[in-house]
Amino acid sequence: MALVAVQCPHCGKQEVVKRGKTDNGKQRYLCKNSQCSASTFILDYAYQGYLPAVKEKIIDMAMNGSGIRDTVRVLNISQSTVINEIKKRILPAVNSSSGVVTLESKRYCRYDSEG
Ligand SMILES: [Zn+2]
Repeated sequence: MALVAVQCPHCGKQEVVKRGKTDNGKQRYLCKNSQCSASTFILDYAYQGYLPAVKEKIIDMAMNGSGIRDTVRVLNISQSTVINEIKKRILPAVNSSSGVVTLESKRYCRYDSEG
């Protein structure tokens, strides 16, 4: 029996145990790190947009002036994931910041309605 070291994609620790299967038969793991934001995770997410590393890239690209559609194309994730992440991560910071940055955030919101 081969033992594969499984690393939690959320906290990077290897303190994980198997915890059943998902509906589509993938192995689900439970992270035992009490500091970790995720309780369970799947290693091979079919959808990359759920991964924290991808979410970091969304923010990086937005901060560097990439439009939402650029981010969608480069990261191969859905537009709603990009928009949700920007709303969640950038806009709250913008609201407590200067008006110049607020204008930037409106630019991102406009991409939303362009389709
Ligand atoms: Zn974890």
